[in-house]
Amino acid sequence: MIDTPLKLSSDISLVAGIGPRSKLLYQRLGIHTVGDLLKHLPMRYERHLDEGSIAQADAMVGAEDGSKSAGVIAVRGEIATLRVQPGPRPRVEATLEDETGRVRLVWFNAPWLKQKIHAGSTGLVQGEVKRFRGYLEMVNPKWTPLDGAPERDALDARLRPIYPATEDLASGRIEKSIVAVLPGAIPLVQDPMPESLRALRALAPLGESYRRMHQPVDEDDMRGARRRLAYDELFLLQLGVMLKRWHLRRSAVAKELPLRAAIDERIRRRLPFQLTSDQDRVCAEIAKDLAAGQPMNRLLQGDVGSGKTAVAAYAMLLAAAHGAQAALLAPTEILAEQHVASLSRMLEGSGVRIGLLTGTLKAKERARVVAAAAAGELDWVIGTHALLAEGVHFHDLALVVIDEQHRFGVAQRAVLREKSSREHVARAPHVLVMTATPIPRTLALTVFGDLDVSTIKMAPPGRSPVTTRWVTPQTSTEIYRWLDPQLAAGDRAFIVVPAIDSQNPDSDSALADVTTHLAWLQAGPLHGRRLGAMHGRLSAEERVHVMERFRSGALDAIVATTVIEVGVDVPEATVIVIEHAERFGLAQLHQLRGRVGRGAKPGTCILIGEPATDEALKRLEIRGPGELVGARQSGLPPFRVADLVRDLDLLRDARRDAADLVQQDPLLEKPEHALLKRKLLHSYGEALGLADVG
Ligand code: ADP
Ligand code: MG
Repeated sequence: MIDTPLKLSSDISLVAGIGPRSKLLYQRLGIHTVGDLLKHLPMRYERHLDEGSIAQADAMVGAEDGSKSAGVIAVRGEIATLRVQPGPRPRVEATLEDETGRVRLVWFNAPWLKQKIHAGSTGLVQGEVKRFRGYLEMVNPKWTPLDGAPERDALDARLRPIYPATEDLASGRIEKSIVAVLPGAIPLVQDPMPESLRALRALAPLGESYRRMHQPVDEDDMRGARRRLAYDELFLLQLGVMLKRWHLRRSAVAKELPLRAAIDERIRRRLPFQLTSDQDRVCAEIAKDLAAGQPMNRLLQGDVGSGKTAVAAYAMLLAAAHGAQAALLAPTEILAEQHVASLSRMLEGSGVRIGLLTGTLKAKERARVVAAAAAGELDWVIGTHALLAEGVHFHDLALVVIDEQHRFGVAQRAVLREKSSREHVARAPHVLVMTATPIPRTLALTVFGDLDVSTIKMAPPGRSPVTTRWVTPQTSTEIYRWLDPQLAAGDRAFIVVPAIDSQNPDSDSALADVTTHLAWLQAGPLHGRRLGAMHGRLSAEERVHVMERFRSGALDAIVATTVIEVGVDVPEATVIVIEHAERFGLAQLHQLRGRVGRGAKPGTCILIGEPATDEALKRLEIRGPGELVGARQSGLPPFRVADLVRDLDLLRDARRDAADLVQQDPLLEKPEHALLKRKLLHSYGEALGLADVG
């Protein structure tokens, strides 16, 4: 047999006990190499009962016949007697003794045991202990022989790792493979962390930390290892984000878009209202960034309905005034379509040419828009993630606005940066990211660490309060009867349901769906009202058509899925009814509720659902989006170990250390940083677009 030296990149079939069949099972868990196996960390640990004497076990079992120990007990001793009871269900019966007492052991259907156990064998038994006719008894206990074996290895009284597993590949089997591979694999782990940092933060060596995660002696041991691995993750991401920022600041050139008084005046004349002082301030911050030759990277935070679109329009008009292109990236097609509709109205009579690029465009239309964007024949391109597709390029893209950032992360921004211009490859666009979701400071620091932040706090004037009511499904019909005369009087409503149609096998048939609900309303409580359907399976033309009819008042209400959740702006809509409200998250409900109360009349939001706790309602009223954006939504690979809530202190340290390192060695050229650089490029090179670092 050829003895191939083990490498971390070796295929797992090299691990003892992993054959071609189990290899497939491991692959399903994303484990392909020895290194993957090493990085498959326990999700938790179980503490097995410590070993005790037989007298202690006796004390743990009640006095009456039939009473049992509360859990598994481990007892060590010597086999005093052993016999096999023949019969249809052969039984091995034994007694085990230590200095303090004796316990009866019974095994059913285990005739092979008599090969292994003899009178005089010593071993460890683990199992439930019960009282049977006055004796202590264990039925089918686990037997571990101790004869000659080192004591430590036999003990189960330790933290046992529990691994993410599948039905066909249990945690115990994974543990066996890991135990088999650890002695060979640990010495192969190279530690990318420079010695000085390891000393500064008292970090255990990397290989040793992996060993301790898999085989911790105790909880402190495991916690120390976890801290090391979490630090690595946090530090690496910080380093990536900071290096990116450093390089952008230093090397990236952006088109200068200075704001002159005449331009400012012309822009304001186009906007359909006067900007609030908050909007004014934010526009000034943006204009200052845009005037500089370095690319802007700014996050605009403002609650639902705070008027972020007008700020985006201001910036995009400024780009247009300089003859440069701007792109607006929206999270949904319906929102992209709405932006095109409202911005087109604003642009009437101007020379600004606007185009829409979404995934459902017909091939011919798409090709036309793509060609026009590349040729510079469009000034503004509004679209969805279709803007990020390969083959989409611009002639001179100076500004990118990303609406509702929680759907778009660092990675997408990097993609857009690449597309700005074929002639000026070194030039990067200014980027404005907008979000209604308050981003927690920790996450802002971590994932959006490369952004400056502006905030709109005050809502535009003429904003009306929204009353929220939570009602039970039994009163649903009453709600629509209450709504009917209001619609008759010219008010407009959104009615939100969770599914499109219950014929869809994926959907839960107990839920209200657009098709059935609309038919029911039409035949029942909203008879005679003009209702439209809105959901993601409509074609783009159908959607635009429905929204236009709703906007103009040709429809009284639309029955919709959550496609209307983000950004939809119809100031005449006063009521939103949400069916099965209990199925939506607070952030979603907050967004949905933000669809009303945008005009002169007060809004009403009716949540129909199983009675919610007062607590939930209060949270919705007071805090707004109770759920904050998660790291998952950032578009970056998730952390395996680090936890942004638990590891906040560690994050601060990692940030400081990453900043110091970037100062010291921004190209990671020093030999002691070579490994770190490799690991960084491997983990984040693509997601962060770190090509210029590497
Ligand atoms: P969001 O921040 O949620 O994107 P929008 O930009 O959609 O908010 O604005 C919400 C509503 O407020 C829109 O109907 C918009 O026309 C209106 N609006 C925005 N700014 C002003 C303003 N300065 N004065 C009056 N109405 C405004
Ligand atoms: Mg918006």
